[in-house]
Amino acid sequence: MTEYFEVHARDGAARVGTLRLETPRTTPTLVDDVLTDAGSLWSANREVPTGSDTELTVLPHRAFPGGTADEVAEAFAAEYPDVDYPSVAVISSDHAADHGTDAYAVSDVQSVVGHGAALAEAVVSVREAIPADTALYLSGVATPRNVAALAYAGVDLFDETAAQLLGTQGRYLTTDGAYFLEDLTELPCACPVCQQPREEVTREDCAEHNANALRAELGIVRRRIRDGTLRDYLEGQARHDQWLTAAMRELDDQWTYLEERTPILRNAQLAATTGDTIRRVEIQRFADRVTTRYRNRFQNPLVLVPCSAAKPYSESQSHTQFHDAVQWRAHLVSLTSPIGVVPQELETTYPAQHYDTVVTGRWTDDEKAFVGEVLGRYLERNEYPSIVAHVPEEGYREIVSRVAKALDLEVTYTVPEGGHPTDKQSLENLADALAGELKYSKREREHNTVRAIADYLFGDAAGDDLFAEIKTTSRYPKIQVRDREDAQLATMVPQYGTLSFTLAGAKRWVESDVPTKRVQIDEFVPHGSVLAPGVVDADESIRVGDEVVVEGPEAFGVGRAEMFGREMVESSRGIACEIRHIEER
Ligand SMILES: [Zn+2]
Repeated sequence: MTEYFEVHARDGAARVGTLRLETPRTTPTLVDDVLTDAGSLWSANREVPTGSDTELTVLPHRAFPGGTADEVAEAFAAEYPDVDYPSVAVISSDHAADHGTDAYAVSDVQSVVGHGAALAEAVVSVREAIPADTALYLSGVATPRNVAALAYAGVDLFDETAAQLLGTQGRYLTTDGAYFLEDLTELPCACPVCQQPREEVTREDCAEHNANALRAELGIVRRRIRDGTLRDYLEGQARHDQWLTAAMRELDDQWTYLEERTPILRNAQLAATTGDTIRRVEIQRFADRVTTRYRNRFQNPLVLVPCSAAKPYSESQSHTQFHDAVQWRAHLVSLTSPIGVVPQELETTYPAQHYDTVVTGRWTDDEKAFVGEVLGRYLERNEYPSIVAHVPEEGYREIVSRVAKALDLEVTYTVPEGGHPTDKQSLENLADALAGELKYSKREREHNTVRAIADYLFGDAAGDDLFAEIKTTSRYPKIQVRDREDAQLATMVPQYGTLSFTLAGAKRWVESDVPTKRVQIDEFVPHGSVLAPGVVDADESIRVGDEVVVEGPEAFGVGRAEMFGREMVESSRGIACEIRHIEER
């Protein structure tokens, strides 16, 4: 439990927070000037320091080298006193534990920086052992080049030590590299130090420049976290050092850690610019949910089409042409890199309409393998009376035919060799392939859309369970879901392709067999938002952006999660969820 640190914005494992000292600091940040170390207990017995609200006090500690045996670490573990000022405990990554302090410094950090797998493992094991609302401090390692990756992993506090030390050794640091000061005929920086005549720049100046460059990079990192685009930045920034790229990829393999911390929706566009985009949580989670939760409810043939640059797809020029040929006689599923497959009902669901990819018409082997695998899983789960592939030759056709062969499915291809899906001939072939098929109604389309979104959000069969008997009103994509007595249950939110419930909808959810994402609160009636200290318990499946039911002895309500479930329970500060509707009990 911490009084002196509060998280305000999250972007995956990275957070923007406030270190609540007498003069507050916004994190991720440098703490050199506000840190006091009470010292090691190895060298002397030490009194509990008096401490102060103006600084972070590192409590007397005993650090252990990596690989210390558990018995030894336990026998010599420092006792951390309960103090009423901002405090830091020193822990090693293999013996991390909650000591009730506001921040944690990792003692064996020097041995993991430079090694992607070791860094990912160390940060994850420490973060999983300490409460979600405490700050993580890596001392003596931050550089302008690595700090974005470290913040992305979930580190909040840094210092200038490494940047200063390297500077006094004549190493000039930038976000993309490290140079010998002597080798530089021109200084590639606009900070005040670097405006002096080149020959007057000393090693002390170099150290000052390094610290400036580090501070500037942290400003970019904070901006990126607030915008929800740190990952997009890191996919570029990590390229400047092999171990940072390795660290990013090793973190991608820490699925449980990253998935829990990644919001299910964002305003920001996802920039699919590198091969690593496919591995990010948002992409893998969408593919996973589409192939394990979503189920096609239409009886019509399947038509596979290419995605469009304009989103949602149905508003693009090419998809308008496909639609004119299809005329609601088929279920439309878009093939796309890096998302995989997008059934028409989920075309607005994050991130299906929130990504921009590099358009060259050429697919990499990784893209083909990924889209092929998702399509294969999709077709194993969903049976269709017939399958039409209205796709161009390049990339798409190869993927579809490979999957069709593997699953022994018959596919009709409607784009002639050398042709394009929007050619007159191709569109005629598409219309012909569906000759004699019946159209489905607007009602069926709308009902299936809200059920598909419920599957996606809550799990396999949730759509049927929650919305078996419904009416829909209002125009797509702002569909309103009502029960047979006309009471409104939910509304589709077009920006994210999600659902927002009314109180009646929330009650139906609680009474159904669909697992409820429930936030249990204390005896009070929340208005506006529920703060973390008021949370008694919360479902572990809750992610930032999830629809949640808020329940307590005095209130029943529904709203949207601002923290993940475990974080709501572990945190002593901050907004756990925003309330949309509430009633007293
Ligand atoms: Zn400079």
